[in-house]
Amino acid sequence: MAFVSGLKCRECGREQPASPVNVCDFCFGPMEVVYDYATISEVVSRDRIEAGPLSIWRYGDLLPADSDNPVDIMAGYTPLLKADNLGKRLGLNNLYIKNDSVNPSFSFKDRVVSVAATKAREFGFETISCASTGNLACSVAAHAARAGMRAVVFIPADLERGKVVGAAIYGPTLVAVDGTYDQVNRLCSELADNDDYRWAFVNINMRPYYAEGSKTLGYEVAEQLGWRLPDHVVVPSASGAMFTKIWKGFNELACLGLLDGVEASSFGPDQNTVHHPAVTTQMHMAQAEGCSPIVSAWDNDEARITPVRPDSLAKSLAIGNPADGIYSLRVINNSGGSAYAVPEDQIVSGIRLLAETEGIFTETAGGVTVSALAHLAEKGAIGPDELTVVYITGNGLKTQEAVEDEVVNPLTIKPTISSFEAAFNG
Ligand SMILES: *Cc1c(COP(=O)(O)O)cnc(C)c1O
Ligand SMILES: [Zn+2]
Repeated sequence: MAFVSGLKCRECGREQPASPVNVCDFCFGPMEVVYDYATISEVVSRDRIEAGPLSIWRYGDLLPADSDNPVDIMAGYTPLLKADNLGKRLGLNNLYIKNDSVNPSFSFKDRVVSVAATKAREFGFETISCASTGNLACSVAAHAARAGMRAVVFIPADLERGKVVGAAIYGPTLVAVDGTYDQVNRLCSELADNDDYRWAFVNINMRPYYAEGSKTLGYEVAEQLGWRLPDHVVVPSASGAMFTKIWKGFNELACLGLLDGVEASSFGPDQNTVHHPAVTTQMHMAQAEGCSPIVSAWDNDEARITPVRPDSLAKSLAIGNPADGIYSLRVINNSGGSAYAVPEDQIVSGIRLLAETEGIFTETAGGVTVSALAHLAEKGAIGPDELTVVYITGNGLKTQEAVEDEVVNPLTIKPTISSFEAAFNG
């Protein structure tokens, strides 16, 4: 059962019953899920969460879909590890990595898709679909296979091979569009409005439910830290949805009294922008220079986002017109955080630094995140002893072409000791 009381427009505040829509009929603002927090606060507890399944569904009371019957390939419950080697390199003594690259389809997108697929089935859809920058395609196809639903996934034609194969293997209808992600997204928005295609587009008509799945990245880190929040988080952003939802997750935990030493408090009249005073985490956003519309708006002190045409190695972050851009700017402001655009030539060095220090092979988005972390440490925005969590959201085996010319070639030898020793000592 889900404690959802409806949808509410983030701009004009109008409410309506929960249905598969993402924009307000009155002002075209984005819709967000409204919860019955009064009932949630009676039900939820740390004990209940800790006794729950080892997936995002342990936080089912705080998710907008039926947690008794989820489409679950075991997304979430990923490791949070203390990163002493990387920390030493960067002068940070209290650094943790949230390693979300080990989700079932190898990115954090499994969290959002598990929620969206569950909700789509509740609404009676038989087909799930999406406009993807790559990882979403893999995750939608995987969850559709698990649920016995049809998947139709749309990707830009220039995607990395690992993402095309990593989606195709689950047997979806895979549509490669000759265009940018933003063009793919526009096409899918038109299809979602067309009565001939009554499909659940997870990041379009299902977006209010889908986006909520990213709150679990906030809940899990808090739980793994012993129901405490970090001083800083570093988060890679495309649409900005994950960034805003990690913040929302932290604030929900505080308001519900689930954090150590924090009194429960009311969610206030506008629950979606509530900032509990006990939440002092500074939210730092990382984008790649070749697609950094949110960082540009932040740097220029603008309240609006100017769309860009992406040209970046970090294809999973290549959204030129980010749906949650303005809301991300508010989160940066409210949290005293920052935003940084990583130069394109530092993406691969970030991937290598993480691999060589901590044994974690991340994709290009992770390279962006690690290089942004290094920048924040270097300029002193993160103090040496402050508790910092860096979110690693995708797996390096999907973007091998980014690094294959950079890694050392194997020693090629004959199957003899002498050949080995000649090569090894040479
Ligand atoms: C999609 C994606 C992101 C960005 O998510 P948004 O919620 O759109 O900002 C970050 N990292 C990876 C690996 C992704 O696939
Ligand atoms: Zn509205």
